[in-house]
Formats: sequence, structure tokens, C-alpha cells
Amino acid sequence: MTKSVFSKPFTQQEAIPDSGIDQAIAVLRSGRLHRYNTVEDETSETALLEREFAAYMGQRYCLACTSGGYSMHIALKAAGIQPGEVVLSNAFTLAPVPGAIDNAGGKPVLVEIDHNFCVDLAHLEAMMLQSKARFFMISHMRGHIADMTAVTALCKKHGVTLIEDCAHTMGAHWNGKRAGSFGKIACFSTQTYKHLNSGEGGFLTTDDDEIIARAIIYSGSYMLFERHGTVPEADVFTDIKLDTPNYSGRMDNLRAAILRAQLPGLDKNCARWNDRYRALATRLAKNVQIHLPQRPDKESFVGSSLQFRVPGLDQEQVGNFVAGCAARGVELKWFGGIEPHGFTSRYDSWRYIDGSQQLPQTLEILATTFDLRIPLTFSVEDMEVIGSIIDEEVSEILD
Ligand SMILES: *Cc1c(COP(=O)(O)O)cnc(C)c1O
Repeated sequence: MTKSVFSKPFTQQEAIPDSGIDQAIAVLRSGRLHRYNTVEDETSETALLEREFAAYMGQRYCLACTSGGYSMHIALKAAGIQPGEVVLSNAFTLAPVPGAIDNAGGKPVLVEIDHNFCVDLAHLEAMMLQSKARFFMISHMRGHIADMTAVTALCKKHGVTLIEDCAHTMGAHWNGKRAGSFGKIACFSTQTYKHLNSGEGGFLTTDDDEIIARAIIYSGSYMLFERHGTVPEADVFTDIKLDTPNYSGRMDNLRAAILRAQLPGLDKNCARWNDRYRALATRLAKNVQIHLPQRPDKESFVGSSLQFRVPGLDQEQVGNFVAGCAARGVELKWFGGIEPHGFTSRYDSWRYIDGSQQLPQTLEILATTFDLRIPLTFSVEDMEVIGSIIDEEVSEILD
């Protein structure tokens, strides 16, 4: 029997909607790409986007900026981080998270994850007690949302400010409430592989007057803060505008135009991701060696990627399995590798952070965790092909 092969690329996103291309061309023709370069009575694309995304989130304020990592950096600064202060984060995350903590002058301290790829709540509380941290930057990594009722209760109990990394949860909810509305601040990315695509870009959302005022000034507003889409009263800026440095990181009107055209289709796209996710998860569940995370009813996630574990594989078999899938066109990422590869990296490859931390549970979980992207250029039918390739390759090694 010849083996089936999958031939579509895992890194191909959909085109920008035509309305976004038209609006981007209009911005280019105007020559006014800078967010503060407006003519009389004109509201910039960037400011309009901020209003629209704040409304989507049900939050009072949104700042559009250069990247998700940048928004996390200024979120910590705006929340008042002091040099050398500990910031807790779950250990299963991506390099921009510890990078943003480091950039803000903080010290990343990592927390174990559980078998569903969420932060381990018992370890979180132990680390809150041990470190006396004032900040917890929760990363809803790959769209897995921890029990946010429990997380917010722990933060309240220990006086910890919660900041959410929503790079993979734009459009998701926990218990009917939007991911990004549990913490004091939420951070989003509009980098190509996230849920909105402007190449690079990010948002910071909050309900807090002073935090948004500081974030706007940090982002490099040259005292033109009144031109932002969502701004508190001018008196909030009286001291903040003089006390806050400019860390230039503004979004421009070209990217904002591209994003504005995508936002109305976001919820529909989330449903399309989930159709694909469910088809693939259902197919993979036929193989008892493949362990899928349990996803509670309260978690309405966005399945733009899928993670599974094959606990029966040893180190050598992991390599053979990934190679076997790759030979048949299925690109799996493996989080257990000691050397960082592509977009994945294991926490102990971030050598600039305290190397003495031992997280055996996270290492054990990641050692047999695999990850694949589900771009919307794949059809629901493609999931059967991908799922059967993974199933066959696991069986070939383990049966
Ligand atoms: C992409 C990503 C970010 C940061 O986004 P950039 O816009 O690339 O800076 C943060 N956290 C996670 C988990 C991400 O995947």
C-alpha cells in the first residue's frame, strides 16, 4: 500500500480581504501613513481600529502598537514594574514572553504546567507565596485557557496583578467572558500567524485610565495622545505625560487599515478554525496512544493549532515519528527539544533567565508533546488526511 502524503504548506495564511487591500491602497495614495498625520476632521485608521477593537473586547481602552511583545513590555511598565522585580509566567510559552519581562527590567520566574497545557494552579500558588511576586503574566499558550475563576481568585488572594498574553486567544472565552478581560491588562499580537494578520502588530487593552495613559505615552505619542482612538480625560495625563519616557512603538495606518478589514470576520474565522480542530481531534482520538488535552465546557477556545501527546514514545522514537510525519508532508513541532527550533523553544533554552529553576513536570509533559498549525487554507477534509498520517505513523512505531 502506498502511503498518503499531504502537500499543502502549514505556513500559508489566507489572503487579506479585498476591502482591506482597497483601504490599504487608499492609505498609500494619501501618503499619510503615520498615525498622527491626519488632515482636519480626519480620524486615522489606527485610531478607528483602536475604537473597534476596544468595542470588540468590551474594554474601555485599546492601544495599537508594533507587536505583541512590545505590548507586553509596556504593559508591565505601565503596571509599575520596578527593576529586578519578579514576574511569574507559565513555563509553556513562547520566547517573546520572558523577553518582554526582561525588557521591562523584570526577572521571569516560571510556573509548572499541567497535562492540559495550562498553568498548574497548586504550583502557581506555591510560587506566589515563595516569590512574593506582584505580577503574573499568564500566557494562554496555544489557546489553552486555565480555570480563570481560580486564577483570578489566587491573584486577588495574594495581591498579584494579572496580565494576559492573548496572542493565541483572540476571540476565545472562559465561562462566557472574553479571554483578555480577566486581568488588569491584556496583550494581543497581529503577527502573521495569529488570528488577525498585519505581518507585525499588537494591541494592549485595559479598563484602567492611568495604565492606558502611561501605555500611550510609552508608545511614543509626542503629546498627541488626544488623537488616540480611546483616551481617558486629558487631566489623567497631567503628570503621566511628563513622567513617562517615549519607547517608540506606534502602529501605522497601513497596518491598521489591513486589520480593520479583518476584524468583522474574526468570529466567523474562529468558528472555521474550530471546525477544523474538531475534525482533526476526532480523527486523532481513534488512536489510544494519542492523548488530547481535556478541554472543559467553560473554555470556548479558538483551535488555530492543535497539541497532542504520545506518552509511549521514547526520545529516539520521537525523532523517528517527527521525521516520518515530515516525510509525508505533516509538519509537527516538538516542544521537547533542548535546542530551540523555529517558533518553538523549551524554557531551559532561555539562558538569560535564572537557570537554577527545575520544572520536572513541564519537561516531562513537553518531552512527548507535538504541535501543529491549522491554517484556514486547509479544508475540513484535509484534517482526515493529516489525522490518518499521524495515526499511521504512531501505530507504525508503537504497535
Ligand atoms: C506571537 C506570540 C507573542 C508575541 O507576539 P509578537 O507580535 O510576535 O511580538 C506572545 N506570546 C505568544 C504565546 C505568541 O505566540
